[in-house]
Amino acid sequence: MKKKILFILSITLILFMHANTIRIQAKSEINDDTSIKLRILETTDIHSYLLNYDYEKKKKTIEYGYNRVASLIQQAKKEHRNTLLFDVGDVIKGSPIAEYVASSPMFYSSDIHPAYKSMNVLGYDAATFGNHEFNYGLDFLINTIKGADFPYTNANIYVDDRNDYEQDDIHFFQPYLLIDKEVINEKGEMDNVKVGVIGLITPITQQWDKAHFDNKLIIKNMRKTAEEIVPKMKKEGADIIIALVHAGLESDQGYRPKSGNNVRDISKVEGIDVILYGHSHGIFPVKGAKGPKGVNHEKGLINGKPTVQAGNWGNHLGIIDLTLQKKKEKWIITKSKSTAKPIIRIIKKKKIPIVSPMPEMEYILSRYHEETLEYMKSKSLLNHLEE
Ligand SMILES: [Zn+2]
Repeated sequence: MKKKILFILSITLILFMHANTIRIQAKSEINDDTSIKLRILETTDIHSYLLNYDYEKKKKTIEYGYNRVASLIQQAKKEHRNTLLFDVGDVIKGSPIAEYVASSPMFYSSDIHPAYKSMNVLGYDAATFGNHEFNYGLDFLINTIKGADFPYTNANIYVDDRNDYEQDDIHFFQPYLLIDKEVINEKGEMDNVKVGVIGLITPITQQWDKAHFDNKLIIKNMRKTAEEIVPKMKKEGADIIIALVHAGLESDQGYRPKSGNNVRDISKVEGIDVILYGHSHGIFPVKGAKGPKGVNHEKGLINGKPTVQAGNWGNHLGIIDLTLQKKKEKWIITKSKSTAKPIIRIIKKKKIPIVSPMPEMEYILSRYHEETLEYMKSKSLLNHLEE
């Protein structure tokens, strides 16, 4: 009898120990409750509208200006301990300041483009090119971006070497970046996320700036390129992949083939987790807006991917707040919120600025602003004499 009791007791103990091991194993397999909150910020289509100044009306404006969105960036960074900041292109062409700089061909050898002087203050992590980056030619672009304190990436612009088909897969720019982002997780510990960044541009750029592309560069299909590159990025350990896409929600009119060259196509690429886009000077998400297919303004998702577009000329800041959870040694996005935050609010049909211009920016830019006004004066005088 004693033996029997002992036997039952030992079986129970073994079962209990076994159950306990299973429980512990199961816990470590599901892993772990570590989570990270990561905030991704976007500017796009700044077009060198660096100051809150309307050069046509010759007076200050509250409706745009990089120096205002700069204040929003500072605020957004202060509110959050883990942030990344990206620009999605069309920086160096547009405003009279940009025109003034481009009219002085050797500007870049003696000075830094005022757009980069301003952006460098905010600490960007990376940027991609817009179609307007190519308007002044390749030499101007390459020399000008030397002034940026942050890397540029583009995957679908290739060296045109049509005489040698073996060689037509050479990327002209750095096709992707892997950023080892140090973060503080929700337990308050230091942690690390490897963030992959890929840049893509609408292929119609090649037609629009034919003279600068012919026999030099070609632009390939965005989706096909991304599908080729993203698996490489995953293999090299990217935990999450952010696509910087200078293209509209829909493909550009007049370009064949349209397929594969818009933001909705990119949202279908496996492995891309987040999309920051620009080019159409629109806003995404827009409260209350509907469609097209796969586009969810309510949740800020396109085919399930967190997405944002931050307007133009510094009138909005794109913000995507992510929660990442570690599951089986991998970071998974479990929550996201996309917002295009404006620099003005409309109260009773009156436009009210939300932020003041960043004072440091005005200090940096005042010289270029004065020189631009002089340049505009001499240009109109010249036009007048020609008439
Ligand atoms: Zn633009």
